[in-house]
Amino acid sequence: MSWDAIVVGAGPNGLVAANRLLDAGWSVLLLEAQPDVGGAVRSDRELHPDFVHDTFSAFYPLAASSPTIASFDLEQHGLEWTHAPSVLGHPLPDGSWAVLHRDRDRTAAGLDDLHPGDGEAWLRLCAEWDRVGPHLIGALLTPFPPVRHGLGMLAALRHVGGLDFVKTLLTPVTELTSERFGGEGARMLIAGNAAHADIPLDSPGSGLMGLLLAMMGQDVGFPVPRGGAGELTQSLARRFRANGGELRTGAEVVEVLVSDGRASGVRTGDGERHAARRAVVADVLAPTLYTKLLDPAHVPDRVRRSLRAFVLDPGTVKVDFALSGPIPWTNGPALASGTVHVADDVRDMALAMSQVQAGAVPAAPFMLTGQMTTSDSTRSPAGTESFWAYAHVPQRTVRDAGDDGIRGVWDHDDCERYADRMQARLEQRAPGFGSTVMSRRVLGPRELEARDANLVGGALNGGTAQLHQQLVFRPVPGLGRAETPVRGLYLGSASAHPGGGVHGACGDNAARAALAHARVDAVLPWRKS
Ligand SMILES: Cc1cc2nc3c(=O)[nH]c(=O)nc-3n(C[C@H](O)[C@H](O)[C@H](O)COP(=O)(O)OP(=O)(O)OC[C@H]3O[C@@H](n4cnc5c(N)ncnc54)[C@H](O)[C@@H]3O)c2cc1C
Repeated sequence: MSWDAIVVGAGPNGLVAANRLLDAGWSVLLLEAQPDVGGAVRSDRELHPDFVHDTFSAFYPLAASSPTIASFDLEQHGLEWTHAPSVLGHPLPDGSWAVLHRDRDRTAAGLDDLHPGDGEAWLRLCAEWDRVGPHLIGALLTPFPPVRHGLGMLAALRHVGGLDFVKTLLTPVTELTSERFGGEGARMLIAGNAAHADIPLDSPGSGLMGLLLAMMGQDVGFPVPRGGAGELTQSLARRFRANGGELRTGAEVVEVLVSDGRASGVRTGDGERHAARRAVVADVLAPTLYTKLLDPAHVPDRVRRSLRAFVLDPGTVKVDFALSGPIPWTNGPALASGTVHVADDVRDMALAMSQVQAGAVPAAPFMLTGQMTTSDSTRSPAGTESFWAYAHVPQRTVRDAGDDGIRGVWDHDDCERYADRMQARLEQRAPGFGSTVMSRRVLGPRELEARDANLVGGALNGGTAQLHQQLVFRPVPGLGRAETPVRGLYLGSASAHPGGGVHGACGDNAARAALAHARVDAVLPWRKS
């Protein structure tokens, strides 16, 4: 059987692309290697039958801000968003907390208590962001170059100091936060968000990342799907199937077929061939597409050369916990936070990140953690907590900056020692944490990759988010859009602009590019695009 389009991979981007193409009236086959859809947006009950754990990602400010996700009306397909009492908390070594709320005045009041003057500085920053932020988000979530939002941004900049504010956006987060705030609390809220990506905190781009996520968190929260992260991708899959799409799981694509210079279908691991008349969209890591799925004869030398310089983001160790009770945080905030960042101060966070960049396993890992039952009461029985923490590790380890002799091979032993190190850090902020642990599961780089082939070495963003691999440089210079050198083949994964995170823009850009080319082909049939 032949399809208008085949989508390889049912992560959020693949599901978005498949839905978009289906909505245009195309027949679409979606092939997923794993036994279930969702990519890095899935949940499971592996650790404890009464506890839902998000296997990978958990909080979705980008999805909640994404016009693409909104356009699918997923609430009609069972998606329900829910929020923790507060968005994000950062416990400080003196026992105080910096807390981000969806109400900016409440955020500011808390920061002012920590350091007088920071509340007003916070509100000033929010007011500047109000002017520029929506254009910036629009520009990031549409194909490059973002003409309409770019013009809107230029107009808005006039109201917030013009080039001075551009400089603010380009300033590394360490400098940006120390210029604007006197206390560590406000600094940590922004720097902690910057550290969701792998941009060094003293490099340009980190300030923008920190502002973007902190301000989004304040505007739309860090929502979670009721019932588990997997409900987000399941609702996309339900919509796709309800509208007539064909979805097959356990179907690994091992080759993208090319005829007359054009993608003509795919071959799956069982040897079956599936023909595509108009497009193949690949929700796979860029190096996988170009070095494994395509015959080298179809990949130009310049692309092969550029790919040698493709940089993965760091590896990850994620620990899931089933807890018998709430986390005994020291002075936990009255409105408990869904996300909690763990680091002593901005320097401590920057040190952990620079150790990872330098190939050292951090002695004091910077941790992102999620209190999932606090965010969604359906995740575990009343009074318990479904909790996770993750921290980054080098892709290639040269030494352990701590004293546990972690070798960086990420076998069972390495993973457990690192998980112990992470748990010891939690114990410092929440004495008695260990006594609440009923069971824990450690997913190191190998376990993550085994559950989703795009997470090579535990990299979670489809390639580094540093400036040299963003925009027109993503995934490699000259291929900054979804189009590939093979006609009819589109890259629709987080390896494409705008990169990692659950916003669906990479998949949407790929589908829209395929639809645009098909329209050109229909009008100018002799000039096949
Ligand atoms: C531990 C972790 C925590 C994260 N936390 C967050 C968060 O809280 N919020 C957020 O916004 N983002 C988060 N992210 C990032 C986010 O999940 C990813 O950026 C996003 O899932 C990328 O979507 P994708 O569709 O490009 O790829 P993926 O989600 O990786 O999906 C790719 C899919 O393609 C399939 N596939 C690959 N190769 C083939 C093949 N040859 N044949 C068939 N199928 C194939 C895979 O099995 C997979 O299902 C996190 C990621 C991880 C790993």
